[in-house]
Amino acid sequence: MRADHISPLDMFKIGVGPSSSHTVGPMVAALAFRESALAWLKKAKPGNYAMVVELYGSLSLTGQGHQTDGAVCAGLAGLNPKSSQVADIWGAMGKLEAEETLDFGSKVKFKPSQDVKWYAWTFNGESLPHPNTMRFCLMQESEPVLSEVILSVGGGFIEKLADTKDQEAESLKESRFKALPYPYNSAAEFVEQVETSGKQPWELVIANQEALGLSEASLRERLSEILQVFENCIESGLKAEGILPGGLNVRRRAKSLYEKIMAGKESSWSSGLGLKPSVYAIAVNEENAAGGRVVTAPTNGSSGLIPAVFRTLKESRDLSHETLQNGLIVASVVGALVKVHASISGAEVGCQGEVGTSCAMAAAGATAMLGGTVRQIEQAAEIGIEHHLGMTCDPIKGLVQVPCIERNAMGAVKALNAAELSLAGDGQHMISLDKALLVMKQTGLDMNQKYKETATGGLALG
Ligand code: SF4
Repeated sequence: MRADHISPLDMFKIGVGPSSSHTVGPMVAALAFRESALAWLKKAKPGNYAMVVELYGSLSLTGQGHQTDGAVCAGLAGLNPKSSQVADIWGAMGKLEAEETLDFGSKVKFKPSQDVKWYAWTFNGESLPHPNTMRFCLMQESEPVLSEVILSVGGGFIEKLADTKDQEAESLKESRFKALPYPYNSAAEFVEQVETSGKQPWELVIANQEALGLSEASLRERLSEILQVFENCIESGLKAEGILPGGLNVRRRAKSLYEKIMAGKESSWSSGLGLKPSVYAIAVNEENAAGGRVVTAPTNGSSGLIPAVFRTLKESRDLSHETLQNGLIVASVVGALVKVHASISGAEVGCQGEVGTSCAMAAAGATAMLGGTVRQIEQAAEIGIEHHLGMTCDPIKGLVQVPCIERNAMGAVKALNAAELSLAGDGQHMISLDKALLVMKQTGLDMNQKYKETATGGLALG
């Protein structure tokens, strides 16, 4: 994959909480397998069919906390993370448990409590192809007649195992990629393209997207939808009260904190913007933890940081809707570079890949929206990544609550600071974003598995 082929709409996907890799990805994977099974059964003879879903690695270790089984059931039932009602999505597993059947034209036996299997770190006697591996099997008389291995690679992206091999072979052929007007596959190339073209950073991405078949009008329309979900999510989170689901007894606090701010009772001695960015981030992440509708930014675990930064700047700097769209486009460039050269998956590289990436994206988007040069944008993104390097993923009970919710608040503040620092300079700095991404990847590879979304190390041990 090349960064210039990843659309802003790939990086920002509307879905449901609590996790993009453990909820949205498995749901999309199940929906994809449902399509394969429906097509296969259409041509098959009537018989006794059954469905088995195997979850491996991190999906197995933290899947119950992330509601992976519920997400798989929703996908098999034909529900979509973007457009189906949230209540229908989370009601699917109970319905299937009671009915014990999937309606795939032919009846397919499926009882989630028995047929969703949780496995460890080996697959066919070998190590896993990815920490988030799933296998879907359509069985006839206890024999698999159709099966697919699907990887949830972070941010709601999925890859079928065969596709992965094909992609590796194909990636050797540049012809796989369309020629774009402004090709780039590194931050340095992006900076160079912007400077030599004389275009704004977002204009360059728009031109590339148009060459790939997505018009500017369609792109902006979809970005408006995404900004609207950001807003809805913040508003819902600022109104909701009570205890988050999952058994950790985490009390929602965005509402009470916001009321304090609005009543002028906040002590904002440490920063000009006070607690607002933190509270907006907490509002979104509490909605995410409750399984609500959120946007991957670039993941669900890190879904609060960018909405918080964008809302804060919209309010404090009176930014136009188009400026916010442009900011999202620039943020997505950074997310795409991380995805290609490091990872946006906590199960692969720890939380540096989720909250760290989100911080870098938000810092870049903020710098662009405030009129920074492309070098200042690159610097802001680098600051955002650099100061999250090595951050582990250790969610308590596998729930996307502690430390995740507060971590977004801290990341939002860091992103605003990174933008401010870069805007105060001239964009010249020592460590390039490209170098920071190489370090991030290597740090993730060196990181002990227990700190990569397994809930077996760090804070998760209590
Ligand atoms: S600790 Fe970070 S990477 Fe891990 S689940 Fe929470 S937000 Fe995601």
